[in-house]
Amino acid sequence: MSVRLFLRSENFVKRRGNNISYFCRCIHSLVRNMKYVKLSQTEDLMPTLGLGTWQASPEVIESTVYKALDLGYRHIDTAFNYNNEEAIGNAITKWIDNGKGTRKDLFITTKLPHVGNRASDVKKFLDLQLKRLQMDYVDLYLIHVPFGFHCNPETLTPVVKSNGEYDLDMDTDHISTWKAMEECQKAGRIRNLGLSNFNESQITKIINACTVKPQVLQVELHAYFQQLDLRKFCSDHDIVVTAYAPLGSPGAKDHFVNKYNYSPDAFPDILGHPDVNEIAQAHQKTPAQVLLRYLVQQKVVVIPKSTSEKRLKENSDIYDFELGPVEVNRLKKIDQGEEGRIFNFLFWKGVENHPEYPFKLGSAIN
Ligand code: NAP
Repeated sequence: MSVRLFLRSENFVKRRGNNISYFCRCIHSLVRNMKYVKLSQTEDLMPTLGLGTWQASPEVIESTVYKALDLGYRHIDTAFNYNNEEAIGNAITKWIDNGKGTRKDLFITTKLPHVGNRASDVKKFLDLQLKRLQMDYVDLYLIHVPFGFHCNPETLTPVVKSNGEYDLDMDTDHISTWKAMEECQKAGRIRNLGLSNFNESQITKIINACTVKPQVLQVELHAYFQQLDLRKFCSDHDIVVTAYAPLGSPGAKDHFVNKYNYSPDAFPDILGHPDVNEIAQAHQKTPAQVLLRYLVQQKVVVIPKSTSEKRLKENSDIYDFELGPVEVNRLKKIDQGEEGRIFNFLFWKGVENHPEYPFKLGSAIN
């Protein structure tokens, strides 16, 4: 909930009238407990825990999102590419219709897909996504990846050439796409604008040309790939970092092995790392809780995906303990730098030939 929305919220007004000092205390304690981070442009409060929804089918995600909202999740991360926006919209609509909360209590993120990564497509995709999500605005809209593919207009999927390579849109232009997003924000369809999978130099170009600078950067980030330089850059520019794959994406292994013939041996098992397990035991927490707490404690937003009720609960129970400096140092040391990257997008054959392909080649899994 943003500060603005919190001020208007029924509970606040009912219980305390216009008591500004109560309001300030509430906000400070929420931020101090790391439950929220403040976005610089709108001052919206973004929950530091969100529900990831990649690889969750529409049938499963509808009940999962409903359960997650009941369990206290208020931040949901989706994307056009996950093919589940409509099911997520159904769950949210039902939850609101059942009187459990209001739209303003929620923080919903979705993303402009690679096939729509051009100024002329921003409004078209956003309108479609909002229709699927059954809402008038999203709290955060991200450009999903810095590169673009040509789009099959019938299926809204990438055009793939006869040799299996993706048909790259070599004219991808971040500045004009960003300006189109700014227009959608002015029209009230997006609260906050952000990027995903962009590198430092790509973000810098946008910062130098934009009216509204990126508020959030969503990137792969976990104990094996801690992205310290990129995080420092973001902190210097007041950009909140969201960690995707915060548990090391254990589910990605089957997906990449089965769909793209990746080697199963290459995938990390961060949840099984002995240091993570020892620290977990010391706090009577699970390895997943330690990995999530480690990031949240450093003001990184986490969006672990789970469709299991038990794990939804487990992943949200991370605000009642703190890792000490020795533990933090121990976890810092398991960083593998670029070697720890899981998502390099090379499964989209030929993507590395796009002028905006963001990563250095030669490392990471494939
Ligand atoms: P993740 O959240 O690190 O891991 C999810 C996997 O871990 C699932 O297989 C899940 O299985 C399992 N899991 C969840 N909680 C667990 C626990 N407590 N203990 C053991 N296993 C647990 O990886 P991710 O889904 O790849 O990333 C998170 C979210 O980030 C995505 O869902 C998506 O929303 C976003 N994302 C964004 C991008 C991007 O390009 N911007 C890329 C990738 C992901 P169960 O469901 O069976 O619990």
